[in-house]
Amino acid sequence: MWLVLYKAVPAIAVYSVDTLPRNVVEQMGEQSFTLIKKIALDPSELPAEQQAKVQAHFKNMLNKLSLDQSVYRLSFYKSDSFGANAFALPHGRIVVTDDLANLLADKPNALKAVLLHEMGHVVHQHSVRITAQSAASTIVLAVVFGDLEGVAEVALGTGASFAQQGFSRDMEREADTFALTQLELLGYSSNDFADAIEALQESHTSENKHLEKVNNLLEYLSSHPSAQERIDNARK
Ligand SMILES: [Zn+2]
Repeated sequence: MWLVLYKAVPAIAVYSVDTLPRNVVEQMGEQSFTLIKKIALDPSELPAEQQAKVQAHFKNMLNKLSLDQSVYRLSFYKSDSFGANAFALPHGRIVVTDDLANLLADKPNALKAVLLHEMGHVVHQHSVRITAQSAASTIVLAVVFGDLEGVAEVALGTGASFAQQGFSRDMEREADTFALTQLELLGYSSNDFADAIEALQESHTSENKHLEKVNNLLEYLSSHPSAQERIDNARK
């Protein structure tokens, strides 16, 4: 049992991530997205002009990084629960809140850095990995009993689990590294990333009490390595 749970299960979880068909990931992501929208997101109140500007930056970066535009999609939402925030869903949809877009309105390159960080989570399939791990024990049962079709069902049913758990620190570092590397590649500076974290840190400190309420749903700053560590790393 120990071998199965501590050796076989993690191995199967990793294996299942690579074999999940694209449409399963798409369904999993859309399902989580619907749930999060219902709980915490309202239609964006950003002016169309401001949205179009960021969308253009987003598309431009996708083109330069040869990332698929049908996978990576950017949406804006107003959110009282999340405050200034951004997150990525497993299938490539990236959500930026009105508060974040406004916070970084005069620092367009810092917003690009945040978008790159979120792209990094999708590139490295972090949400899918977390979902697979949390579903792993059920997957083991499905494999033991030969019910492989059950694997897809389990993955779909637990799609929202990543939102509750947040990413591990290693995953956050991986997404940071992706953002810093691509910033340099695109001709921006890793200081833009540090600027973004500094602005986020300030905004979240001032509304800390507010943030505690949503801690369980989607931890942003608390699940990340310490803000100062990330700022120092980027500046270095
Ligand atoms: Zn992150």
